[in-house]
Amino acid sequence: MKENIKEIWNKRPLIISGPCSAETEAQVLETAQRLHATGKVNMLRAGIWKPRTKPGLFEGIGVIGLPWLQKAKAQTGLPITVEVATAKHVEDALAHNVDILWIGARTTVNPFSVQEVADALRGVDIPVLVKNPINPDLELWGGAIERLQKAGLTNIGMIHRGFSSYGNTQFRNAPMWHLAIEMKRRFKEMLMICDPSHICGNRTLLQEVSQKSIDLDFGGLMIESHIDPDNAWSDAKQQITPERLNEMLGDLIWRSENTSAQEFITALASLREQINHIDDELLTLIGQRMKIADKVGEYKKENKVTILQTNRWNEILERAVAKGDALGLSKEFIIRYFDAVHLESISHQNKVMYAN
Ligand code: PEP
Ligand code: MN
Repeated sequence: MKENIKEIWNKRPLIISGPCSAETEAQVLETAQRLHATGKVNMLRAGIWKPRTKPGLFEGIGVIGLPWLQKAKAQTGLPITVEVATAKHVEDALAHNVDILWIGARTTVNPFSVQEVADALRGVDIPVLVKNPINPDLELWGGAIERLQKAGLTNIGMIHRGFSSYGNTQFRNAPMWHLAIEMKRRFKEMLMICDPSHICGNRTLLQEVSQKSIDLDFGGLMIESHIDPDNAWSDAKQQITPERLNEMLGDLIWRSENTSAQEFITALASLREQINHIDDELLTLIGQRMKIADKVGEYKKENKVTILQTNRWNEILERAVAKGDALGLSKEFIIRYFDAVHLESISHQNKVMYAN
């Protein structure tokens, strides 16, 4: 990898911005200049080929946009990144000295496409960022990363852009933070950045979602920006001007995962000790609860009663939600927690029922 790209790749936070789509040469150049002027952006992004849900929408300017990006790089010094989905895209991007590639959410879902891109990159020393697949499937996300690793790529990062869900929610793509956290656990040293633009789908939540990702120790952000957001040819609702981006980045509070201040370390160690202790107690109690469930299972077996008794389950939930509320625990958490406990209890009772 070229020295200057290595330096950018290792920068934390890594801030990537630029339009959803490259539209005209003037738009690309002006965006790059205004982003560069913020002094906070490390890399310019622009979609050249756009995977659109329906035909008839703007599907990207295509290969003629690549020289515009090269020119923007020459004028500002900002390295450039584009989305690739086919071997031809890879070939064109490399021919135009694109510095970093990314794989979009609609490509990560398709192992054929990911493999095609990986094969086209065999022997090429370029960093690649892999967006999560549109559906919440971590195996698919991890599988895409493994395909690239098998092709010999060593600089791979992840972009969390949220997951598509049916029906209207507050977000265009639900963040499901726990899934990104799990990927960070599976790929420990790997860079993970957040794309709040595609999570939010609008401008109002951008700051909040960006801050949340920073608090979860993400390594950077990819945010869409446009010189005239309302008139963007794609994703108009979620884009912001470079100046607004500058303000937003200035307002974010960057935290580091570790600090060397002794007092902090001691206080944290003591609190973690308490948490470990409580977790141990909770597990012991849950174990005891399951032993009681086993006994209930035995009685049900002897008396030929079904395992699931809906009324009893509703009663448990109602009690727990009320109690949880008084303790400052959200209804959502209580339901998720009790669902998990209940499933485990059913599986225990099942074992008892079908034991010889
Ligand atoms: C994009 O970055 O413009 C894009 C198409 O994003 P995603 O793959 O996350 O939908
Ligand atoms: Mn977009």
